[in-house]
Amino acid sequence: ALIVRHRMRNSGRWARAMAILREFEEKCATPIGKLRQVADAMAVEMHAGLASEGGSKLKMLISYVDNLPTGDEHGLFYALDLGGTNFRVLRVQLGGKEGRVVHQESTEVSIPQKLMVSTSDELFDFIATELAKFVATEGDDFRLSAGRQRELGFTFSFPVKQSSINSGTLLNWTKGFSIDDAIGEDVVAELTKAMKRKDLDMRVAALVNDTIGTLAGGRYFNEDVVAAVILGTGTNAAYVERAHAIPKWHGLLPKSGEMVINMEWGNFRSSHLPVTEYDHALDVESLNVGEQIFEKIISGMYLGDIVRRVLCKMAEEAALFGDIVPPKLKVPFILRTPEMSTMHNDASPDLRVVGSKLKDILGISNTSLKTRKVVVELCDIVATRGARLSAAGILGILKKSGRDTVKEGAEKQRSVVAVDGGLFEHYTEFNKCVRSTLRELLGEEVADTVFIELANDGSGIGATLLAASHSQYLEES
Ligand code: BGC
Ligand code: MG
Repeated sequence: ALIVRHRMRNSGRWARAMAILREFEEKCATPIGKLRQVADAMAVEMHAGLASEGGSKLKMLISYVDNLPTGDEHGLFYALDLGGTNFRVLRVQLGGKEGRVVHQESTEVSIPQKLMVSTSDELFDFIATELAKFVATEGDDFRLSAGRQRELGFTFSFPVKQSSINSGTLLNWTKGFSIDDAIGEDVVAELTKAMKRKDLDMRVAALVNDTIGTLAGGRYFNEDVVAAVILGTGTNAAYVERAHAIPKWHGLLPKSGEMVINMEWGNFRSSHLPVTEYDHALDVESLNVGEQIFEKIISGMYLGDIVRRVLCKMAEEAALFGDIVPPKLKVPFILRTPEMSTMHNDASPDLRVVGSKLKDILGISNTSLKTRKVVVELCDIVATRGARLSAAGILGILKKSGRDTVKEGAEKQRSVVAVDGGLFEHYTEFNKCVRSTLRELLGEEVADTVFIELANDGSGIGATLLAASHSQYLEES
């Protein structure tokens, strides 16, 4: 009798676990109709954000980039890329149309966690120090024209309200950064002061978001690049807009007639977004409550934690991992998206990789195959939702740009979207799903004119190119 009762109890638990899983799956559903609504809402918000300052959750920030690289850029330029858990510094010798990128060197430094929540001076001192170290290693492959000051493209991947190509104030932090005294400050001035303190003689020639850097880098290698998307720790997109379609722009109409817009789509939200109780809890416990809702269901910083939250619920309410809830399951962000990706990708018949990850990361041993399958299914639900919504966002941009249809009679236009970010680069299932969903949304004929290209570290090169085209020595060269 005891055994029977035990069995019944077990099957009751399992049924409860399945109920939680199915309910979550339902709430995360992204049928094609819903994705179209999201894309439409995205296009509507784009209009609203361009119409007036604060007109939409989509900030639609003006980048002051009205010319994308041509290939003529030349000289030695540096770039500094700050925006995630690492920052990169880069130097490039640009050789113009013939030479292109003649030499390139870079290094990556991880940002100590405590600096992400410290003070502006501490963060920028650290960055300037690392930059100075890197500059000191400049060898003979690189040549600065006589009498010139070194110039830098500063990729700063947070929302900034720019006042020129090389100045702008920080609106708010995202992605786990929280340094109060930097908000409202000109980040170029902050960096410049720190460089002075470190005796580093360098001028910031261009301040760019990573999306803008990626767009510039993408265009340098492919003329058909019209938009850039970041799918990494955070998410965002930039695209080329017609200047006269930006009512809130009161400056001179650029010669090119174009202006690149940093959408800050991570802050998009809409009643059409499939949000669950887990997303809500994640948001409420985050450093930026109520902000970056699109980002929180799509990007690499958060996907693993959503999975963890559902597992935690299953452990608590359905004893998925036995009578006690594994304590590590309660630790926020302990399950990172790369690990989630590895589990999702496990092709072994007994899901051995999932088993060992659960053990190593969460301290849960001896999981049954059934349980491991649940974990994989969860990863799939969360990644699929994020990837499909990303595709819907891209469709929104294509719609706004009139590139979601094939024009009769006209020569077929090609639209290339440059995508960068570790989530897109390394999470295979996510990547495949973005691509297949965009095809599904566009239909075969249009899909054949739209190309998604991985722009691996396009943003670093892009920043050096924009520094070159905004060099203070431009007239002389
Ligand atoms: C930031 C954007 C950035 C994106 C990708 C977001 O959290 O707000 O400025 O482009 O992350 O790095
Ligand atoms: Mg980056």
